[in-house]
Amino acid sequence: MTQQHPSLALNDGRSIPQLGLGVWRTPADATAQAVKAALAAGYRHIDTAAIYGNEAGVGEGLRTSGVAREEVFITTKLWNAEQGLDSTLRAFDASMQLLGLDVLDLYLIHWPNPSRDLYVDTWRAFVRLQSEGRVRSIGVSNFEPEHIDRLVQETGAKPVLNQIELHPRFQQRRLREYHAANGIATQAWSPLGQGQLLEDAGIEAIAARHGKTPAQVVVRWHIEVGNVVIPKSVNPGRIAENADVFDFALDAQDMAAIAQLDQAEGRIGPNPLTAAF
Ligand code: NAD
Repeated sequence: MTQQHPSLALNDGRSIPQLGLGVWRTPADATAQAVKAALAAGYRHIDTAAIYGNEAGVGEGLRTSGVAREEVFITTKLWNAEQGLDSTLRAFDASMQLLGLDVLDLYLIHWPNPSRDLYVDTWRAFVRLQSEGRVRSIGVSNFEPEHIDRLVQETGAKPVLNQIELHPRFQQRRLREYHAANGIATQAWSPLGQGQLLEDAGIEAIAARHGKTPAQVVVRWHIEVGNVVIPKSVNPGRIAENADVFDFALDAQDMAAIAQLDQAEGRIGPNPLTAAF
């Protein structure tokens, strides 16, 4: 049975379903099927990006799912090579063409790329796209507080969320506190640690106690700490499993055990301060 997923309020008056399907590394020709499986399992939120090469599959999956466009929250991201005012406007049009959408729910700057110093101009293009009604909400990904502060200082426009690497081995407490203090939602990428966390003995023990799987325990942890969470799978059974997390709760002992898994060096992906690609 599918359950209605909770939503989180955004600082622009809109809201975002707390659980979504991620499609990084989902092959282009498998994307429509994965999106349809997710929508059939009750998901109402899909996370893609121009660089994933599967925006067309996301659009196709949505159109052939039987679920109304307005019920589904679609995010895509501007790739680094397109940063800058005019190039962002062109890249947005290209993404919308592939997605087959008139209006996008959320557009994100994929990485700050501080060494290129184009993210403020890029943000000005995002503000313009929003004022034209082409995108409902605008946000960032892999930004550190210093990058977000600069956007706000130079444009007056605050991102609704920051999508960052976040999982039990890399819990990002400092950044989550900054987001909370500034009314910015935290969205977790690689929420399952790209699958590596699912063999952790502590997570397995919690799962066994609740009669749930390790993936369900980790997704549930994200829900309980207040993250927006976008686990990826192409397997319809796993897609459904990852969303079947609304019939149990972690207790204080479970939360304390998961808190212990945090590691200063737990990051899997690049460091946004130095990543330049
Ligand atoms: P993830 O943490 O979601 O892990 C996905 C992997 O976990 C799968 O490939 C599969 O091997 C395994 N898995 C998933 N469900 C499972 C289950 N129920 N049982 C067993 N194994 C299971 O990793 P991810 O894809 O890196 O991250 C999720 C999404 O986050 C991406 O698809 C993408 O949308 C987004 N993302 C964004 C950025 C960014 O820079 N903004 C970077 C990476 C990922």
